Amino acid sequence: SSAGVDLTAASLDRAFVGGRWLTADSGADIAVTDPATGERIGSVPRMGRAETLAAIEAAHIAWGPWRALTAGDRSAVLRRWAGLVYLYQDRLAELLTAEQGKPLAESRAEIGASAGFLTWFAEEGRRAYGRTIPTDRPDRRLSVIRQPVGVVAAITPWNFPSSMITRKAGPALAAGCTMVVKPSEETPLSALALARLAEAAGVPAGVFNIVTGSAREIGGALTGSELVRKLTFTGSTAVGKLLAEQSAATVKRVSLELGGNAPFIVCDDADLDAAVAGAIGSKFRNAGQACVATNRIYVQDGIYDRFVDAFTARVRDLVIGNGTTTGTQVGPMINADAAAAMSVLLDDAVGAGARIAGGGVPHPLGAAFFEPTVLVDVADDMECCRSETFGPIAPVMCFRDDTEVIRRANATAYGLVAYCYTTEYRRLNRFAEELEFGMVGMNDFSVSTEVAPFGGVKESGIGREGSQDGLDEYTEVKYICTGGM
Ligand code: ADP
Repeated sequence: SSAGVDLTAASLDRAFVGGRWLTADSGADIAVTDPATGERIGSVPRMGRAETLAAIEAAHIAWGPWRALTAGDRSAVLRRWAGLVYLYQDRLAELLTAEQGKPLAESRAEIGASAGFLTWFAEEGRRAYGRTIPTDRPDRRLSVIRQPVGVVAAITPWNFPSSMITRKAGPALAAGCTMVVKPSEETPLSALALARLAEAAGVPAGVFNIVTGSAREIGGALTGSELVRKLTFTGSTAVGKLLAEQSAATVKRVSLELGGNAPFIVCDDADLDAAVAGAIGSKFRNAGQACVATNRIYVQDGIYDRFVDAFTARVRDLVIGNGTTTGTQVGPMINADAAAAMSVLLDDAVGAGARIAGGGVPHPLGAAFFEPTVLVDVADDMECCRSETFGPIAPVMCFRDDTEVIRRANATAYGLVAYCYTTEYRRLNRFAEELEFGMVGMNDFSVSTEVAPFGGVKESGIGREGSQDGLDEYTEVKYICTGGM
C-alpha cells in the first residue's frame, strides 16, 4: 500500500539518484527555511559536479530500457505517479507552503496542476504519431517516426516548485526520455517529495533523478555533458541566456521558459468587475512572483478613474499573512531580499514622480512580507515598467487609443503573455493578433493549463510546455527513406 509514503520535511533530506537516496560526497547540506517565519524546516545535500555526473550516468543507463517500453506501459507508470500526487495533495501542499510561502489554497491548486500535467502527458504520450509521406519516386518509401531525445536536464525555479517539474517530467518520461532535475535551492523539498512518490509509483531507478546543491556546479556539469541531449529550463532571462550559451558547445536542444513583462490592457468598453478581478488575480497570485504576473496595467481614459478606484479598494482589502493561516490571500515573498527589492523599485518610481495609491510599505509581519501596492502617475520608462517586477507592485497607466497602447505594450524585450479586457469583438481580434506575446489572455487572466501551449517569444524563451507542442519538445523527428522497392 502507498498509504505509508513519508513526506515529512525531515525525511526528505537526501537527493535521489539512480533509485537511491544519497547525501553529498562532502557530507555538506543546504538549509531549507520557511519564508514566513525564517525557521529552518529541513536540509538537503549540497551536491556538485561529481554527483551530477553520476546522476547523468544513471539516467543514461536507465534510458535504454525505459524507451524500450511501449508508450502504454510508460503511461501506466505515469498515471500511478499522478494518482499518488492527487492522493497526497494536502500533504504536498503543506510542504510547498512551508518552503515557498504561498497561501495553502494556491499550493493545493499547484499540486492539482502538477498531477494534471502527469495525467495529461500519460495520455498524450500514447499519441506521439509519426507519418508516411507519398513518395517522390516509385521505387522507394518515405516515413517519419518520433523518438525520445534522450537524457534531459531540467533546471527549475522556486515560484512553482512542483508544477514546473511535472510540466517537464510528464512529457519527457511519456516520450521515453530520462531525466536529471536540479530544483531551486530555495524549494528542493517539493521536488524530493515528487521523487519519493515516483519511486512509490514504480518509476524505474534512474529514470527520474534529483540533484540538489550548487546551481553553478550542477548547471555546468549538466550543460557540459555529451550524454545530456536536451536542457529544459524555467527561470530568469539572465540565467537562461547563460545556460543557452553553455549548451551551445554540445548543440543541445533547449527549451527556455524565461521572464515576462506582461501588459494588462483595460478598454473603455470592458466589463469593469471582470477587469478588476483579472488584474487582482494576475498581479497578486503568489505575491506577484510569476513569469505571467501582470507587470504594467494600461487603462483607457474613459474608464481610468473608475478602474483605479475599484482596483485600489480591492488591493487594500487583500488579506496578507502566513500562507498556512486560513483566509490568507497574499503570503510572504520568497525571502527578505525579494521584499527589499520591492522597496528599491518603489523608491525609484516615487522619485521619478509616481504616486502610491495604496500599500507601499514593508509589512509588520516580517522582512519577507511586502504590502500589495498600487502606483499611479507612472511612466513607461520607470524601472517598475521596464523590468520584471516579480512582486506585489501594480503600476497603473492611462492610454487613449488602441494603436498607442499596442505600441507601448509591445515595447519590451519580453514576450511571454499579455492580457486584454474588451467586449468589442473587432478590438478583441486586433489585440489578440497584434500583441507580440506567446500567449494572450482576452477577458481571462488564468491562461496556464496542461492542455494548451505555454511559452514566450522574444527574450521570454524558446519552445512550449503543455499540450501536444509540449510533447514534441521531447521527441526528435527521424525520417526513414527505404529504397529498392
Ligand atoms: P528565479 O529566481 O526566477 O527562480 P533563477 O534563474 O535565478 O530565477 O533561478 C532558476 C533556476 O536556475 C534555479 O534552480 C537556480 O538555482 C538555477 N540557476 C541559477 N543560476 C544558475 C547557474 N549559473 N547555472 C545553473 N543554474 C542556475
